[in-house]
Amino acid sequence: MPFRATVLTLYPDMFPGPLGTSLAGRALAEGGWSLDIRNIRDFAADKHRSVDDTPAGGGAGMVLRCDVLAAALDSVADGRSLLAMTPRGAPLTQARVREMAAGEGAIILCGRFEGFDERIFEARPLEPVSVGDYVLSGGELGAMVLLDACVRLLPGVMGAASSGEEESFEQGLLEYPHYTRPFEWEGRTIPEVLRSGDHAKIAAWRHERALDDTRLRRPDLIERHGGASQAPPSGARRED
Ligand code: SAH
Repeated sequence: MPFRATVLTLYPDMFPGPLGTSLAGRALAEGGWSLDIRNIRDFAADKHRSVDDTPAGGGAGMVLRCDVLAAALDSVADGRSLLAMTPRGAPLTQARVREMAAGEGAIILCGRFEGFDERIFEARPLEPVSVGDYVLSGGELGAMVLLDACVRLLPGVMGAASSGEEESFEQGLLEYPHYTRPFEWEGRTIPEVLRSGDHAKIAAWRHERALDDTRLRRPDLIERHGGASQAPPSGARRED
């Protein structure tokens, strides 16, 4: 059965948005995955259809009510991963995306305002997910980020390009840099090794650049993955 995504949101009109274009959009139209959008407001029980209330203890903004969130979640829960978008969650990784893409799909809860009444995390098996250390105005863009990352990995969506072991994060490294024609542009040329036709030499150069750039830009990745997964690709030896 294809990957099934359900999104619970107060702004259903935001979907499919970017997920309806390009490769994800084509796969969606062809039934390679499905997207079901539910309006959280439909689960409000009072006559004003209220979904939020003021924060206990005082302070700015509004908090999403746990009774409304639970009703929305319970209406769609079926064993798929239950995710809640929140900056208080674990940062999303390519490893988690791969795991999710290999499963049946996901149910994603999008917050707004100050976020969720915390009791929803105690009462339902919700995985808090963050898309980075910054604050968005709502969970919808985060849900789109997560789904875009999953969908491109689904069989047939991107072909070989998304299965590459050398892509950023797959080996705990950033990917090496790319170049294409023209060979010379504004006085800058493409590294000579890439024109050598020597595949072992090219692989070694790419591995070296991946390591150098990761050390420089993302030392946290090197730290997190240790040295074990960073062996050069087979047949690759650097010859300077
Ligand atoms: N008061 C909250 C932020 C609320 S932002 C806090 O400081 O933690 C409103 C909603 O946007 C959140 O409920 C969440 O669903 C979404 N959101 C904001 N930043 C996010 C991030 N980095 N990752 C995932 N979701 C985010």
